[in-house]
Amino acid sequence: MTVRIVLAGGDLVLPGRVLPRGSLLLDGPRIEAIVEPSKGGATPEPSGAALVDVRNCYVLPGFVDAHVHGVEGFDTLDGGDPIAGIAARLPRYGVTAFCPTTVACGPRELARALEQVGRARAARAEGSARVLPAHLESNFINPKYQGAQPFDCLRLPPGLRDPAYERRAPLYGAPDGDFSADDILNVIASARTDVGTVTLAPELPGALALVRTLVSAGHRVSLGHSGASFDEAIEAIEAGAGFATHLFNRMTPMTHRAPGLPGAVLAREDVHAELICDGYHVHPAMCRVAIGAKGITGVMAITDGTGGSGLAPGSTAWLGGRSIRVGPRAAELEDGTLAGSTLTMDGALRMLVGIIGLPLVDAAALCSTTPARALGLTGLGLIAEGAVADIVVLDRSLRVVRTFIDGREVYVNTGAAALR
Ligand SMILES: [Zn+2]
Repeated sequence: MTVRIVLAGGDLVLPGRVLPRGSLLLDGPRIEAIVEPSKGGATPEPSGAALVDVRNCYVLPGFVDAHVHGVEGFDTLDGGDPIAGIAARLPRYGVTAFCPTTVACGPRELARALEQVGRARAARAEGSARVLPAHLESNFINPKYQGAQPFDCLRLPPGLRDPAYERRAPLYGAPDGDFSADDILNVIASARTDVGTVTLAPELPGALALVRTLVSAGHRVSLGHSGASFDEAIEAIEAGAGFATHLFNRMTPMTHRAPGLPGAVLAREDVHAELICDGYHVHPAMCRVAIGAKGITGVMAITDGTGGSGLAPGSTAWLGGRSIRVGPRAAELEDGTLAGSTLTMDGALRMLVGIIGLPLVDAAALCSTTPARALGLTGLGLIAEGAVADIVVLDRSLRVVRTFIDGREVYVNTGAAALR
C-alpha cells in the first residue's frame, strides 16, 4: 500500500522561488502535487493522507553529496560494512543520496568498497540514504598535491613511462609496489557500474589516454590533486573530463598570468566544480568568485566529509586506514596535514546562506539540484510535481527537522524546536 503524506504549510523551496505556506502531497515515492496556500490559510487534507505540520519550516529537496568519505566514525575503506553505516547516518544531516568516496588504496580494499556499493545500490536499506556509484579519489594523482592521500598507493597511469617526469617527481612505487596501475583498472572494470567518478591528475604521463578510456567506459573524470597548468587542464577537458575535485584545494594556484587548473575550471562552462563549503577549505570570498563565475548550475556543494564529521572536536577517526583527528575547523592527520573536512551537508547549506549570503533557493541548487543533474539523476534534486519525494525539512535556523526518502520519513529530530 502506498503511503500518502501531506507536508502542510511550509515554505517550499522550488526551483528558482520559495512558495510560502505551501503544501506538498506525497503519494508513495513521488511528489503528487504542490498546493498553493488557500485564502483562509487552511491546509489541504486529502482523505487517507497523513498530515505532517511543517509550518515555520523550509521544505527543500534532499541534499546530494557527490564527495563524502565518511561520517560519525565510519570511513568507506574501514573493515566491515562501513558504506551501509554511512548511508544509515547521513539522513540526519538532510542527505538523501551520496557518492561514497575512497582515497587511493590497494586493489583489495577498493574491490571490497565497490562490492558494498553494489550491494547497497541493488537494494536501499530502509531508513538509509541512496548510495550512488562511488567516487574514487584515485591512485592516479600527483604526489606533490597528494594532501592526505597515502603516497605508497599512488601510481602512474599505465602506458609509456616518461623518464624525465619520473626523475622530477618521486617515483610512485609502481611497478615495484605490491600492486600495479593495471590491477586498479581491472577492479574498476569489474565493478563498472558502481564506479561513477574517478579523480585524476591530467598532467601525469599517460593520463590523457586514461581520461579517454574512462570516459568512453561511462565514468565521469574529475580533475584534482593536480599540478596541471591551464593548458594541461584544457587538454583534459577536451578529452572528456567534465568535473573538478574540490576546486582550489590541492591544485595549482590561480594567478592572472597563470590561471592553472582552477582558471580552466572557472573559464569552462562544461565543467562542474565541487566546492567544499565549510568556509575554511575555501575562503568565503573565493566561494563567491567560483559561484559568480560558474553560476549555480556549475558548482556542486560537497562536504569531503570524513569519519570525523558529526563527532566532537578532539575525537579520532580513520581515513583510508590512517588516523585523523577532529580539529577545530577540519580533520587533520597526526602531523597536522589537512585531511578532509568535518562538514555535513546541512552545515554547507548554512554556510552558503549565512556567510556567503546566497538566497536559499540558490543554496538549495548547489546542495541538491546541481549535483543531481551533474550526476545524471533524473527526478532527484528538486521539488516538482512528479519528482521523487526525497525531501528535507529545515527549521528557521536551517537545522534538519525531518528527512524523507521515497516519500517515507527516514529521520525526525525529536529535539527540534519546530516540533515543540
Ligand atoms: Zn576527498
